[in-house]
Amino acid sequence: MPDDVQLGLNDVFEARRRMRGVAIETPLAPSSLGADRGADILLKLESVQPIGAFKIRGAANALMRLSPKACARGVVCASSGNHGRAVAHVAARLGLRAVVCLSTATPAVKVAAIEALGAEVRQLGATQDESQREVDRLVADEGMTEISPFDHPDVIAGQGVIALELFEARPDLSAIVAPLSGGGLAGGIALAAKAIAPHVRVIGVSMDHGAAMADSIAAGRLVAVEERPSLADALVGGLGESNRWSFDLCRRLLDETVLVSEQEIYRAMRALFLQDRLVAEGGAAVGAAALLSSKLALDGPTAIVLSGRNVDMTVFRAIIESRPVRLGDREVEG
Ligand SMILES: *Cc1c(COP(=O)(O)O)cnc(C)c1O
Repeated sequence: MPDDVQLGLNDVFEARRRMRGVAIETPLAPSSLGADRGADILLKLESVQPIGAFKIRGAANALMRLSPKACARGVVCASSGNHGRAVAHVAARLGLRAVVCLSTATPAVKVAAIEALGAEVRQLGATQDESQREVDRLVADEGMTEISPFDHPDVIAGQGVIALELFEARPDLSAIVAPLSGGGLAGGIALAAKAIAPHVRVIGVSMDHGAAMADSIAAGRLVAVEERPSLADALVGGLGESNRWSFDLCRRLLDETVLVSEQEIYRAMRALFLQDRLVAEGGAAVGAAALLSSKLALDGPTAIVLSGRNVDMTVFRAIIESRPVRLGDREVEG
């Protein structure tokens, strides 16, 4: 990317046009979860996208803009799972080679789905940092194009399309709540939302251990975090040493960051299923977790992005049956 590239609302509108036929316009479903607080809560069901997560949006926008030369050399990415699956899905449609670098902590359900799409999977170490080193090597040695899961202008613009759909469905929204990891999702949504309706609050929610973006915003600079097993496996990982886009966007445009515990995520996954009959992976349930633990100030219709459904079934079944789930050397229960 040249240094003078700016990212604006126009890019988000273009992304919307580009992703037609690959990503869908997702439903905005009323939730029962706010009923006892008298709150108007709407769930943006990114979980029903092809590949089961919003990452298809950014991947479609980024891959469909590649030059023929870049297409010939293929694409590579580091991922906690869903971005890799999205890149693999779009690459297969376009007939491109795709290499996805995953940590060994990636849930098996996500690894299997990526392999089934025909992408090459590399699992070289236990952290996202180690995956990134393999990405850097493939870019240097084989001339592949890196598609970052969050720090890429086309990926961010793609995720921002969610905000366009939200305002069309509900022009009266007062807040948008989105899961927050690398910040492509929340940053893209904030980019579009603040351009269309600056008064609408945009809130990012992370798990309380290893919340790289929330910690970095608080510190005013990029900070490294320790990666710990979490029910929100999609939110684990750092921001990259040379973050260019997502940190700046989130720091400038997010109104607030909220942290939730593993137990709060567990309870939210359970409540989403038992009350709304919705399947959310841990990383997708953090907005509902913030709501249910009274960490959101509600002052009008609030959209919560339910970002994906790709949960390991052993974990999901345990949560639905109120059994403990093992996370590394800990156990979580409701
Ligand atoms: C990637 C992902 C997130 C976080 O998105 P960022 O752009 O990294 O902040 C949230 N939920 C799910 C399901 C994801 O796959």
